[in-house]
Amino acid sequence: MDTGLSRRGLFGASAAAAAILAGTTSAAASPHQSQMTLRWWGNNGWEIRVGTKTILIDPWLTRFKTGTYTPAGADPKTPLSVNKALIDGYLDRGELRADHILVTHGHYDHLTDVPYLAKRTGATVFGTETHLSLMAALGAPEDQLAIASGGEDLTFDGYSIRILRSLHSATGERARVPFPGSRPLSRRDRPRVIEDLYEGGTLAYQVTGGGASVLDFGGSNYVESELAGLRPDVVLVPVGGAKVTQYVPRLLRALGNPRYVAATHWDDFDLPLGQAHDPNGGLETLRKAVAATSSRFVVLDHLGEFTP
Ligand SMILES: [Zn+2]
Repeated sequence: MDTGLSRRGLFGASAAAAAILAGTTSAAASPHQSQMTLRWWGNNGWEIRVGTKTILIDPWLTRFKTGTYTPAGADPKTPLSVNKALIDGYLDRGELRADHILVTHGHYDHLTDVPYLAKRTGATVFGTETHLSLMAALGAPEDQLAIASGGEDLTFDGYSIRILRSLHSATGERARVPFPGSRPLSRRDRPRVIEDLYEGGTLAYQVTGGGASVLDFGGSNYVESELAGLRPDVVLVPVGGAKVTQYVPRLLRALGNPRYVAATHWDDFDLPLGQAHDPNGGLETLRKAVAATSSRFVVLDHLGEFTP
């Protein structure tokens, strides 16, 4: 039976992850399958394949230890590192490529691997001025960096990319953005530790092609007015959003109740790729919120695939 849901056998699924997958196979059955395939690379890392083209969002394979999900929180002085051998393995085996890389914001768990991936793939990279400044300082080829501010609707060979103004997650009692800040493109001192990677504004991206569209948010918040008229088939929703008024129902209403809601940014990234683990029950909270709507909930294991 073609459920539209599969996973590559690169890693053994943990019992928890297998249970998650078992709970979602029925949600993936669709009589109108598109020519678009989504693969989850952990955190908010997504690979969108449309024909021979590949679009990556926030690809972060290195997943170094930061303490983000411990009671003490992330150590701001954690050095940035890129596991080039790991990334080279996927690229050299032909398991990963990229025509575009879309950056939602500047934080370490979204941007750190992008400069190296851009260099290796030749992909065009979209981000705000701050994101581009950070990536250029980390060695990204500057002629591949394309500035975006939200509002762009761009057509490429076989797919289009709509860029939306968005918002970062608001965390804690004070609803604060962690590691906030911005920097101009002219600034080129090299970021060394995770606190050097400022949020720098947050963008959301809708990719359309192969008969489907997918909308991704890299933080658990959004600008409702930016979503007017959008009708994606799949929305990738981060867990969290406790401080955001009616986080899930208001979002799904604004989008006309998409067929699929796929969970993103839900796994503890102190653990390596291949060990998808929900550190704080965020996945269950999101599952319940989606269950109260007409959308179907999809959760993938690391490197799991989904065809809407
Ligand atoms: Zn962030």
